[in-house]
Amino acid sequence: MKYGILRFDEPKRDTSRKVIHIDMDAFYASVEMRENPSLKGKPVIIARHPKETGGKGVVATANYEARTYGIHSAMSAQKAFELCPQGVFIPANFTLYREVSEHMHRIFKRYTDRIQPLSLDEAYLDVTENFINQKSATIIARQIQEDINRELNLTCSAGVSYNKFLAKLASDYKKPNGITVIPPDKAQEFLWEMPIEAFHGVGEKSVEKMHGMAIFNGRDLYEKDELTLVQAFGKMGHSLYQKVRGIDDSEVKNDREPKSVGKETTFSEHLTTENEVVQSLRSLAQKVMINLKRKQKHGKIVVLKIRYEDFETYTRRKSFPDYIRDEEELFQVALSIWEEENDSRGIRLLGITVTGLESVIYETIPLPLWKESYSERNKSKHED
Ligand SMILES: [Mg+2]
Repeated sequence: MKYGILRFDEPKRDTSRKVIHIDMDAFYASVEMRENPSLKGKPVIIARHPKETGGKGVVATANYEARTYGIHSAMSAQKAFELCPQGVFIPANFTLYREVSEHMHRIFKRYTDRIQPLSLDEAYLDVTENFINQKSATIIARQIQEDINRELNLTCSAGVSYNKFLAKLASDYKKPNGITVIPPDKAQEFLWEMPIEAFHGVGEKSVEKMHGMAIFNGRDLYEKDELTLVQAFGKMGHSLYQKVRGIDDSEVKNDREPKSVGKETTFSEHLTTENEVVQSLRSLAQKVMINLKRKQKHGKIVVLKIRYEDFETYTRRKSFPDYIRDEEELFQVALSIWEEENDSRGIRLLGITVTGLESVIYETIPLPLWKESYSERNKSKHED
């Protein structure tokens, strides 16, 4: 039997930690409304206007007014336009959002250094130990809300509990500008009453499947035995069995967000022909792209580093309006930068870096089976 090794004894809860989940309210749209107060009260949709893009594009965020028309994140901009033709479409300004996000993180760091960002506008904070020696995570959450409000003129919602799963459910419970605390003795009841759609990590298809199994809320889920859930949902079934009992031991992981991803190669024999350079740039572009995909990042700025045989080193950068899509595009960009150099000296080092990275949020990138093909390494080259 495939699942015979699972334990079926009642699992235990660890309620010793204090976790806060902070989630900005309609983040991009709120930032735009703050920048341009004449937008207040109007439906604001963060996306390029579908008329400018020929119907392409996806809604990044919609403010609460726009949501009353049924518009939501990840909806096509065209659909949003059909639902609300008078809506104000604003292209995303990630430079600005990133600045605001960095300020948020400076606020978080006054309280703890155990911070796990989920995106520009969301993060988990473990405040079990904290810099202000405050025992109440609720007081800390409130202070963070006040700091954000005062310093950034924006609102956020906060969830407080003893694990990440519950903290996230809690922050979602009262939006906007809400704070929800789920203490250990209230967790089970809270989970029982939660509609299954609200369980973080349960996708649309699973929700449908659950409805087919007569699971509509936490209580229905709780009453299923572990084997049934594992048979229906695999690994997620096991995790849901735990979560609906208020168990989630995953840690708040300090995630060092990479600002750039790059790869460089030093050649034991200097490159002297175009063909060698082309080959090398291709291989670098491929490796950088694999790394970006693995980290679920993309960027619009490409930096080429060239060190000549006399050790003179140049870095040249090019910015693009759109994210670099694939290794071919990255290669072409790097090649064009190199061609502009027009220098005949031998090359001892080449490097390609993609910088100004953003999380890939609205595309699902299938993780390639790169491990097999990636292990090969050219022995004559030194890589760092
Ligand atoms: Mg948010």
